[in-house]
Amino acid sequence: MSKIKAVVLFSGGLDSILAAKIALLQGWEVKGLFLDSVFYQEKVRKDAYKVAGILGLSLEIIDISLPQYEAVKNPRFGWGRNLNPCLDCRIIMFRKAKQYLEKEKGDILVSGEVVGERPFSQRRQSMRQIEKAAGIEGILLRPLSHSCSSLSLEKVKSSLNRELLFDIRGRSRSKQMELAKKWAIFNYPSPAGGCLLTDAQFCRRLKDYLARYFDFDINILKLLKLGRHFSLSSETKLIVGRHKEDNAAIKELARDTYLQFFPLSCRGPFAVGIGRFEEGNLHLALRIVARYTDKEAVSVEVVVVRPQGRFSYRVSPLEDEVICRLRI
Ligand code: SF4
Repeated sequence: MSKIKAVVLFSGGLDSILAAKIALLQGWEVKGLFLDSVFYQEKVRKDAYKVAGILGLSLEIIDISLPQYEAVKNPRFGWGRNLNPCLDCRIIMFRKAKQYLEKEKGDILVSGEVVGERPFSQRRQSMRQIEKAAGIEGILLRPLSHSCSSLSLEKVKSSLNRELLFDIRGRSRSKQMELAKKWAIFNYPSPAGGCLLTDAQFCRRLKDYLARYFDFDINILKLLKLGRHFSLSSETKLIVGRHKEDNAAIKELARDTYLQFFPLSCRGPFAVGIGRFEEGNLHLALRIVARYTDKEAVSVEVVVVRPQGRFSYRVSPLEDEVICRLRI
């Protein structure tokens, strides 16, 4: 009989690591699928790569930022505590995984989901709903909560080593940690997930974005993860780097269409201005940048790079109470 080909939805978190390990221990041909998104913390992809390397798992990456964004705007099944449309998101993930499975001529999908671990998307009823909507009934193995698997392929069912299947439920991760120890899996990421759609501060910025732009703009969405954000008007915002890494990342994302700000003869932040800048807003932006320089001075020289050219202004740092009012 030909070897079973499995695709594991691999996030790099402990549950997905264990699911991949189990699929490998079954003796199958296993591929990992990492569904990347602009809504993840930057470290998530790096962690996933690192752990996949340790497991010897080849990893395919597919970006789901755009459909995830559409789900954030208009979720069919609603949001969780913040702007996380988890049910819609899981359907998107499984649909993408199914397409990849078909492309690879694979037999089954493997997911590390544990029934009852998450209140919104991992209830038994939601899991069934997701399978149905994603069209993956009969091809999904959940080795950590096997009673929630949906397998119809005889070839797979008859080849399963059932000693490697578990019926874990609930939020305690003690059984998962026990398995990790048994299989010498250490240094896995903490369960405080890397999805920023569950992060209150990020979602405040995202709500502000939705109110202003609505269309998908990957550059601005990436900028939401960086720096300090200020709303200068309903049409104008400023993003100011907090440290060296922020400054470098903001600079990389700064396009010619955004205004760029930096202090001239002292250390301080790099900032970008998005939207229509008129004289009042421009002055405000310059004073905010001046506020975050190292120099304690009554006035600071700040440069702005605009489509019309590069200009420098001497301005006084903006008062903290005004800064607080403008902060998103
Ligand atoms: S936590 Fe984020 S990535 Fe995970 S299912 Fe919910 S929205 Fe999707």
